[in-house]
Amino acid sequence: MVNKKFDVVIVGARCTGATLAVYLAREGVSVLLIDKDELPGDQVLSTHTIHPPGIDILDEVGIGNAIREACPPSRIIRLNKNGNSVDVMHAEGRAEYCPRRKRLDRLLQEAALKEGVELLDRTRLIKLEIGNDRVAGVRAINSNTNQELVFTAGLVVGADGRHSSVAQMAGAAEYLAYDAPRAMYWAYWNAPEIWKTGSQYPFDMYQGNTSGDIRVIFQTDYNQLLIGSLPPVEKAQSWRFDPLRSLIADLSSDPVTAPLIEGLSPDGKVRGTIKERYFFRQGAGPGWVLAGDAGHHKEFVIGDGITEALIQAKRLSKAILEGSDMALVKWWRARDVEAMPLFYFGQDEGSLKQPGHLDKLVLKHVDKEPELKKKLALVMEHKLSPFDFIPASIVMKWVMADVLRGRFSVIPDFFAKGRRASFVNGQIKRSRKLLAEANASI
Ligand SMILES: Cc1cc2nc3c(=O)[nH]c(=O)nc-3n(C[C@H](O)[C@H](O)[C@H](O)COP(=O)(O)OP(=O)(O)OC[C@H]3O[C@@H](n4cnc5c(N)ncnc54)[C@H](O)[C@@H]3O)c2cc1C
Repeated sequence: MVNKKFDVVIVGARCTGATLAVYLAREGVSVLLIDKDELPGDQVLSTHTIHPPGIDILDEVGIGNAIREACPPSRIIRLNKNGNSVDVMHAEGRAEYCPRRKRLDRLLQEAALKEGVELLDRTRLIKLEIGNDRVAGVRAINSNTNQELVFTAGLVVGADGRHSSVAQMAGAAEYLAYDAPRAMYWAYWNAPEIWKTGSQYPFDMYQGNTSGDIRVIFQTDYNQLLIGSLPPVEKAQSWRFDPLRSLIADLSSDPVTAPLIEGLSPDGKVRGTIKERYFFRQGAGPGWVLAGDAGHHKEFVIGDGITEALIQAKRLSKAILEGSDMALVKWWRARDVEAMPLFYFGQDEGSLKQPGHLDKLVLKHVDKEPELKKKLALVMEHKLSPFDFIPASIVMKWVMADVLRGRFSVIPDFFAKGRRASFVNGQIKRSRKLLAEANASI
């Protein structure tokens, strides 16, 4: 029995799904959003900093100011590798914000409802309906009533996260995938006075890699700090038994995080995830398309998943409005071209390799050169590839100056980075070719 017909059914009602629903509904598309969770609900397994281009999308959706009212802006971001640091500053009027997912997702869901979208929570996709050799709707079950519901639709969007049921049911192939080398554990502490007044904290956000141990500080809503650690997966196995003790011991061993938690208990429980996988998936097929984490999941160390999900939602809405399967294939190929640089950058930043001599040299120079700092901020703005932000000729000059001072150890790092950049650029070229082929087809 068909319960109702929609132009588009979106499975997953969080940052990707709810945002896409807003853009589509504004263009007169009838949209049903379903989510297996009871909403509004927290999503435990994600920290939540959003880069400025993600905030631009929230402004378009109409919830940017609500986020700004709830969270402090983070304009100065300290990146630290083995004690060498650079404070990247976003341009005037640009900042990161780090709202709890419960707040962000609820605001997005409310925005979708305001645009006339139908939203069913506690409603889990159990089967894709097929008609004329294409996906033609969804069968779902409501956990409250135990009732099965069938909705037909011209298009089903999988915005159902990294363990996407839509991807699995549609048989979307995975590529460039690898298992995460790091786990992540974090908790929330009331921001202590020292965070606001201490001279050792002239920044609003922190990410440090000390001898391979990565730790982060994000200022978030409720005047709290999200402080987390990203231990290697193997080390994290033992954290499972007592995450609070393990996290506190880890953060207490770092001179940047220790003073912020000294003598203080976190508010609420420690959250964490050990087993993650990063990938791209085939993005579209007859009657279906994947968006956000469902189609592409990358290292959380660069905190870009939500920003990318929001940007993807806007772009995908345009492809959907074109109304053809081919437009969705083109969207998928363009998604890959866009995503490749940060995917590989995340892979490098999250790797278990310790920061090397070249990292130290680059941070030292970037910290001294305002123009390069500005360019680094453009990477977080999605305007510049991290592999292009310093021309190789300039790095070469820095390396030669070090070599002339007898510091030869930087040479192997320099050549390794060069090989990596050419591999990544090769992958980007390959994905551009696939996009060009898609664009050339009728
Ligand atoms: C440890 C960790 C830290 C992270 N930190 C950051 C960060 O600081 N900044 C950042 O930008 N990104 C971060 N990310 C990435 C970010 O969480 C994701 O990119 C983002 O949540 C993707 O949003 P989404 O809407 O695509 O999927 P999700 O947020 O995962 O939402 C998917 C929704 O689909 C629903 N769903 C799933 N299956 C079904 C089904 N069968 N039927 C109905 N509904 C279903 C789920 O209930 C869920 O509500 C982090 C990720 C991890 C793992």
